[in-house]
Amino acid sequence: MSSNVSEAVIIGGGIIGCATAYYLAKAGVSVTVLEKSQIGEGGSSRNGGGVRQSGRDPRELPIAMYGVEHLWPTLSEELGMDVEYYKKGNLRLAKTEAHIKILQGLTDSATKKGLEVRMINGEEVRQINPYLSKEVIGASWCPSDGHANPLLATLAFYKNARRLGARFITGEKVIRIKKIKGKARQVITEQNCYEGENIILAAGFDSNPIAGSIGIHIPMNRVLLEALVTEAQPKMFEQMLGTAEADFYGHQSTHGSFVFGGSSGIDAYTSDYDRPVTNSMTASCICRGIIRYFPELATAKIVRTWAGWVDEAADHVPVISFAEEIPGLILACGFSGHGFGISPAVGKLLSEMVLEGKPSIDLSALRYDRFKAKI
Ligand SMILES: Cc1cc2nc3c(=O)[nH]c(=O)nc-3n(C[C@H](O)[C@H](O)[C@H](O)COP(=O)(O)OP(=O)(O)OC[C@H]3O[C@@H](n4cnc5c(N)ncnc54)[C@H](O)[C@@H]3O)c2cc1C
Repeated sequence: MSSNVSEAVIIGGGIIGCATAYYLAKAGVSVTVLEKSQIGEGGSSRNGGGVRQSGRDPRELPIAMYGVEHLWPTLSEELGMDVEYYKKGNLRLAKTEAHIKILQGLTDSATKKGLEVRMINGEEVRQINPYLSKEVIGASWCPSDGHANPLLATLAFYKNARRLGARFITGEKVIRIKKIKGKARQVITEQNCYEGENIILAAGFDSNPIAGSIGIHIPMNRVLLEALVTEAQPKMFEQMLGTAEADFYGHQSTHGSFVFGGSSGIDAYTSDYDRPVTNSMTASCICRGIIRYFPELATAKIVRTWAGWVDEAADHVPVISFAEEIPGLILACGFSGHGFGISPAVGKLLSEMVLEGKPSIDLSALRYDRFKAKI
């Protein structure tokens, strides 16, 4: 029988938990991952696959840039599985002068942090992607952004973490964390108790009640996002697309189908269910977006739609942080709908926090206590 004691216990088997387990197991650390449902059940297998640096808050941009420079390009090779990563750029589209203004602001702050991103006009946009309609009057263009396949990337981290000895227990819902002698030490599930020197909380929105069991509150909302996939189409383009208001995004996958996501604006009113479910209006709303941006796709058939929750932090950037008053606890949640693109880098940084006691990138702006009133 396996022991319930390991050096690290990870709560949540999404891509953050799986990537962290991989980097820890690779360094020889014994790891147990507790997942209440199945691996990748949360946003990690439901997302749009964007691996983007542009449009990021300056506080998390260094993580995104690190991942794109050092991890994503060799990830398929490292994990022995093609995660369908494309580093072919991101066009963040504008249809109005107000959109241009938003994108200009994001571009200015990103270039100050060293990211190569620039504003281009409508004609330049169509030189990069000739399928885009004349409604697009400009865009921000970041050539080193891209996309990957979230299901494959999550699975690849999971399989490799297991290969290196990490233990994954699915159907194991964590209820609370318990302190022993002032340190976070035990993780209590519905039926069992696990122990670890390091407890990493990466359970998406559900991190909140678990952190609450030990006196920590992270201001977060649960927000529903929807996406859809078309039938396979002839190869058209390889860039990732987004918009100034982040209300529409998409890319063409390796086998030809397009994955598009968007919002109808009514999602907040349908988010009271236990499971994320699509509503009757959002898919047609996304389709209207597709037709306006890509008239050529007007007859493409939609084969599947789905919904997923995101853990939206009050200031829209994640919490990746030790909790000093509770030694042994590391928080990794609040990824606010853009955690996939940074997941390899976050997994690596979390492993460094366990192994070396600090991450190699300064994460102090992502501390859990940044929301507290300053006295
Ligand atoms: C439709 C959609 C589109 C998106 N598009 C993008 C995109 O293009 N680019 C991008 O970067 N990001 C995108 N995201 C966001 C991205 O999916 C997430 O930020 C990322 O997957 C977060 O990973 P995670 O491991 O923290 O969370 P999750 O994948 O949600 O994993 C958390 C896990 O914890 C488990 N869990 C919860 N409670 C417990 C408990 N009590 N005990 C044990 N386990 C528990 C859950 O079952 C889940 O498996 C999108 C999200 C959605 C929904």
